[in-house]
Amino acid sequence: MAQRTRSIEHRQRWPIGVTRVRRILRLFARAFLLRCPNCGGGPIFKSWFHLREHCPKCGLALERHESEDYFLGGMMLNIIVVELVFVGGLILWGVLAWPNPPWDLFEDAGVPFMILAPLLFYPLSKTLWLAFDLCFRPVRPEELHTSDAPTARLPDA
Ligand SMILES: [Zn+2]
Repeated sequence: MAQRTRSIEHRQRWPIGVTRVRRILRLFARAFLLRCPNCGGGPIFKSWFHLREHCPKCGLALERHESEDYFLGGMMLNIIVVELVFVGGLILWGVLAWPNPPWDLFEDAGVPFMILAPLLFYPLSKTLWLAFDLCFRPVRPEELHTSDAPTARLPDA
């Protein structure tokens, strides 16, 4: 009840656009910390590569009751970010070392980077994808698994 009252007061104090921006920033800040974008709870990973079924704090179904391909967007985000970092780093390194860029070193560093970076970015790509999805599709009550989540709740508006 106090949470709901605070939320209503919050909405009255801030214009709706500011409230939305703050909500989106909060979703992504939590995602960057590998926490549940909805509530900030965690840990939401069983291991580096395995996400829990539900958030332990709010009970959000982390795959949002969709099939196993829910995180295809996260995989695409992973590939795009790693490629952009690789190409941007390569260009920056080449420009800084110009006129004698270390071509051999580019090859030697590029291959391990392109193998390791997607693995290191993997959990972050999942939480960022979940935050991105929550921006457009807010949590519905049926997505909250309440039996083992002590504080299952919908996000603040
Ligand atoms: Zn949560």
